[in-house]
Amino acid sequence: MYHLIFVVKIKNNMRVCILGSGLSSLALAKSLVNQKIHVDVLYSKRGYEANKTRTIGISKSNVEFFNEKIINIEKIIYKLNKIEIYSDNLEKQKLINFGNNSDHLFSIVKNYKLQKILEKDLFNNKYFKITNYKKKINYSKDYDLVFNADYNHQITKKYFYKKIEKKYNSVAYTTIIKHNKISNKVAIQIFTKSGPLAFLPISEYETSVVYSINNNLKSNTEINNLIHNYNLKYKLKKIDKIYSFELSGLSLRSYFHKNILAFGDLLHRIHPLAGQGFNMTIRDIKILNDIIQNKIDLGLPLDSTLNSEFENNQKHKNFIFSSGIDLIHEFFNLERKNKNKFLSKTIQYFNKKPTISKIFTKIADEGLLF
Ligand SMILES: Cc1cc2nc3c(=O)[nH]c(=O)nc-3n(C[C@H](O)[C@H](O)[C@H](O)COP(=O)(O)OP(=O)(O)OC[C@H]3O[C@@H](n4cnc5c(N)ncnc54)[C@H](O)[C@@H]3O)c2cc1C
Repeated sequence: MYHLIFVVKIKNNMRVCILGSGLSSLALAKSLVNQKIHVDVLYSKRGYEANKTRTIGISKSNVEFFNEKIINIEKIIYKLNKIEIYSDNLEKQKLINFGNNSDHLFSIVKNYKLQKILEKDLFNNKYFKITNYKKKINYSKDYDLVFNADYNHQITKKYFYKKIEKKYNSVAYTTIIKHNKISNKVAIQIFTKSGPLAFLPISEYETSVVYSINNNLKSNTEINNLIHNYNLKYKLKKIDKIYSFELSGLSLRSYFHKNILAFGDLLHRIHPLAGQGFNMTIRDIKILNDIIQNKIDLGLPLDSTLNSEFENNQKHKNFIFSSGIDLIHEFFNLERKNKNKFLSKTIQYFNKKPTISKIFTKIADEGLLF
């Protein structure tokens, strides 16, 4: 008996548009062109952020996904194998330890380098176009799908204004410290009386600093002094220019309108204390990638059903994850206000239980495990 096998190759002429040209837009664009989908990125403002002190921590499993499905970033990342968390409330005693000294736990990358590597690759890709918003576009007719990652676009004001907002009453200060050569593979986070302060190594000579300070604005001299006071191990040579901006959080109530899906920090913006904002977006790209591949394999069009599938898959997970980060923020705020050590002591106790410590590490790496 003969079996005839027909291989049907469906030509993929799908065209999508991405609004905004930030990191979320570029990473999503690259994952889509890799799936041979035509992508137009439309922007109002472009260029690398003037702020070259911004860095992003990317978890191990997200780096692996980035390398495989988006673009190889091995050359621009700095791998870390441990995170130590301290609290002022316990007189700078260690609260939590993630990872050991040998495994890769997560990596730090400079935002502008990630942006540059993505742009360089995309600009040479035949599936990719980037233009300024100028011609009139009918978003529902001209494109199969639209991904909106632009906070200031009129579409955002029209369809994506219902959100749960969170005022942290905090300002983030970012800078890079230059120091003597040191084996620099451990990130440090200190829950100080003023707010969480992170030292995130980016080489043996440089470490990025993110200090989120509650309530009152500080001068650059005050920030400099605080960095000196809390610096546990670096022989400082120089503190670069300090940038500051107000922090706020949001979770969008509805992820899509017809064929338009909100994306990136427009969907969920969280406090930087756990370094998870962009990691959440990478997990979103992973899910989108799977949904799209499934549709392509079945010969189905990319239409608004993708948006509802994505929302059903991710909205509750993203909301629980963001709420978890807010809880950590509130928890240390409360402890700071009450000058109470009970909560920190409880965390310290649980962290000594290997199973619980492993669960924390896994959630930080892969997101919620369901
Ligand atoms: C100090 C700091 C440290 C961080 N560290 C990490 C980390 O270690 N790991 C990690 O995974 N993520 C981290 N993040 C989050 C990460 O930087 C963002 O998720 C990512 O840059 C968002 O890219 P985007 O393209 O979606 O937004 P972009 O288009 O680049 O916009 C940047 C931010 O500005 C906001 N924005 C734009 N316009 C406006 C406006 N008019 N009003 C108010 N807000 C506006 C956006 O919502 C977004 O939050 C950090 C964020 C901050 C603030």
